[in-house]
Amino acid sequence: MSAQASTTQASLHLKPGKERSLLRRHPWIYANAIERVRGQPASGQTVRVLSAEGRFLAHAAYSPASSIRARAWGFEESAEINAQWMHARIHEAVARRSGLQERSSAIRLVFGEADRLPGLVVDRYGDQLVVQFLAAGVEFWREALVQALVEATGCSAVYERSDAAARQREGLPSREGALRGEVPPPVQVIEDGVRYQVDVVGGHKTGFYIDQRDNRREVARHAAGRRVLNCFCYTGGFSLAARKGGAVEVVSIDSSADALALAAAHEPLNDLAEPSVWMQANVFDALKAFQAEGRQFDLIVLDPPKFAPSVQHLDRASRAYKDINMRALRLLAPQGLLFTFSCSGAVSVDLFQKIVAGAVFDAGVDAQLLHRLSAGSDHPMAMTHPEGEYLKGLMLRRM
Ligand code: SAH
Repeated sequence: MSAQASTTQASLHLKPGKERSLLRRHPWIYANAIERVRGQPASGQTVRVLSAEGRFLAHAAYSPASSIRARAWGFEESAEINAQWMHARIHEAVARRSGLQERSSAIRLVFGEADRLPGLVVDRYGDQLVVQFLAAGVEFWREALVQALVEATGCSAVYERSDAAARQREGLPSREGALRGEVPPPVQVIEDGVRYQVDVVGGHKTGFYIDQRDNRREVARHAAGRRVLNCFCYTGGFSLAARKGGAVEVVSIDSSADALALAAAHEPLNDLAEPSVWMQANVFDALKAFQAEGRQFDLIVLDPPKFAPSVQHLDRASRAYKDINMRALRLLAPQGLLFTFSCSGAVSVDLFQKIVAGAVFDAGVDAQLLHRLSAGSDHPMAMTHPEGEYLKGLMLRRM
């Protein structure tokens, strides 16, 4: 940054004492920490962030509509935030994931703050990239970022799924469509030897729960000879993994007929001649009905949608998590395994464990915690940004 540019560039001046989190390299600057804005930065433009005493703290992307008013790109004053900078971050992020390619053709290539690109999510399904621009800063640099992604991956097809609620909070309209290439038909991916079809246009998130890769493998490793129940199965990720792992029976439940149809279509793709059971039902009701029927399972997966979209929903969400966990535990045969998850960022690892402990008690059973589970290594969390952690899970054994 030349001296002249730095004097003409817009800047955010923080209130006294509000520099603390930035000094610890936390990347978010809340609106209420800002004393004044000098200059007239446009949405997504880079601003210098200064303490009340005028000390340089960070280069950040300005987001005028959001309560997170700016997101830091970096904390080195000498850095120049430009297209080359974006290229470098993309190439680094892609290179960091190269080791995963052997296991899967579905990989998260960029995960926001953890990759120093706040608000950018990029998933790769075979040769198809799917991008989400979820903050003003990455929206501002969208062309440079897409160009860098194409170069770093060799993929020529890029589809945008910037439809998340996060964009609304940034004052950005929702955007979907092909940025490079055509609107893609469902893409086939292979993960740990299992074939999945991914609907990147109409599916949840960018089409598939890539974050559960390692946990699907754990389920597969423990499935042999077991009767498996997969609740909230969506397109059947855990169900297919369990069948490939040798489960003797797999029952999968989801409320969405569309998701179940995609799930069932995975069986012939994987040479599974005998169909498994795909049940369209409300999991809460189905678990009750199974108990009344005296059904038992040896391995149960509970991977519900985000019950707590924010801290305001914590009480209700906690009750819902506890209820399904209690009911699932009652259906587990002795020595049976429970893989239970929460993808609510508002529910901490500690809180989730407490909720599940309460469910064990209420179910009137004893259980051991065997492993703590999390998202795969392509969904890392920056140590300075604990808000980036969202997916947590526990593997329990009923005694
Ligand atoms: N476990 C899945 C992802 C789950 S997404 C995977 O690994 O791919 C959450 C799913 O729960 C969605 O498919 C949604 O249709 C379903 N769902 C939400 N509420 C439900 C309910 N009360 N009963 C059954 N399914 C529900």
